[in-house]
Amino acid sequence: MLQPELEALERGRLDALVLERLRAALAAALANPAHARRLGGARPEDIGRPEDWRGLPFLTKAELRDAYPFGLAGAREQGYRRIHMSSGTTGNPILNPYTTADIRQWGEVMARCYVAAGVTARDVIQITPSFGLFTGGFGFHYGAERLGAMVIPMGAGRTSLQLRLMRDLKATVVTAIATYPLRMIEVAREEKFDLGSLSLRTGIFGSEMWSDELRARIEKELGIRAYDIIGMTETGGPGMGIDCAARAGIHVWEDHFFAEIVDPTTGAAVADGSEGELVVTTLTREGLPLVRYRTHDLTRVVSRARCECGRTSLRLDRLRGRTDDMVIFKGVNFYPRQIETVLLQHPGVSHEYQIVLDSDGGDRMTVLVETEPGCDSGVGARIRRELHNLLALSPDVRLLPLGEIERPPGKAVRVVDRRTTR
Ligand SMILES: [Zn+2]
Repeated sequence: MLQPELEALERGRLDALVLERLRAALAAALANPAHARRLGGARPEDIGRPEDWRGLPFLTKAELRDAYPFGLAGAREQGYRRIHMSSGTTGNPILNPYTTADIRQWGEVMARCYVAAGVTARDVIQITPSFGLFTGGFGFHYGAERLGAMVIPMGAGRTSLQLRLMRDLKATVVTAIATYPLRMIEVAREEKFDLGSLSLRTGIFGSEMWSDELRARIEKELGIRAYDIIGMTETGGPGMGIDCAARAGIHVWEDHFFAEIVDPTTGAAVADGSEGELVVTTLTREGLPLVRYRTHDLTRVVSRARCECGRTSLRLDRLRGRTDDMVIFKGVNFYPRQIETVLLQHPGVSHEYQIVLDSDGGDRMTVLVETEPGCDSGVGARIRRELHNLLALSPDVRLLPLGEIERPPGKAVRVVDRRTTR
């Protein structure tokens, strides 16, 4: 552990620290009149236990967009040192301004994540997410600096060069958007690059949903152990939490982030173990204080007990999907990750797939799946049958040769919805 005095803090004392920080976070947010208006007269002294937090209103993505650029920002008098931004498909971008303390906090939580993944100062870390307004590159960089490890700050793309430097500089750790390792594996195959010549042992991946099956494939192909990191631009980038070697849920750094799980429809708190939407309050971020921010990510609390690794912070399940990724087709609700889980159980089926929804001549769903040469042609019918058993869906399954589905430069596009009426 980087900070055992905090990461392994006994539950009662951790809860007391969280309560104290909730009150302080509320007081800090209230200093901005725009937050004070939203929070409708809430007072820090009224928060006597964490459950009292449930009386505060949610903060939505739309409110953050409408507040562009700095309407809901905090600590303006201190001045900002960095800006990061999340670019959505609609409306204003969401800006997150970082104070000096925010940059230090980011480095600290990212360094904790590295340590949880078994990374030490002796490692060589290749950073493949972009350095820029996107939070990925710099987050991994600050964490590595705090840890004292060597960094190869590659940024996104140039996969052939990535592989070559990874081999020649003996990178032991790769950090990436979750589907980027798949691109590395593909390019290695195309260029007859020997993945066995790499010194990699650890991968830290996030920023996208990726199933356990996809993780198993990446680990096998690259010969690494892969860790799932969470966090988003609004919370200050990656580093909100990570799974540990026990692989028993994602530890959320509770002294920095207060996590609640609510019913996405009613907003009511759900019991530990039940799935719902993750709501995050930042306890130590100055530039963009979040009070009960609705993330749209679906997960559940796995445990609040001490983990095998010794850490006491609460553990969440790996994110299962986003409330806004949910597809409704002919009255059936599902998430792309459920389809991915079925596909990847078949040998010879590639990790590239796309779900296409059309509405000409009645609603139609087609799952495009790339298969490796020599893959048995009966696999399409088997996938269709399994999807029917699991989700009561009977899509057309179209098998394509490798490389047919377009690879976008950033996150993978899993659903193409061409339906005209929804
Ligand atoms: Zn653990």
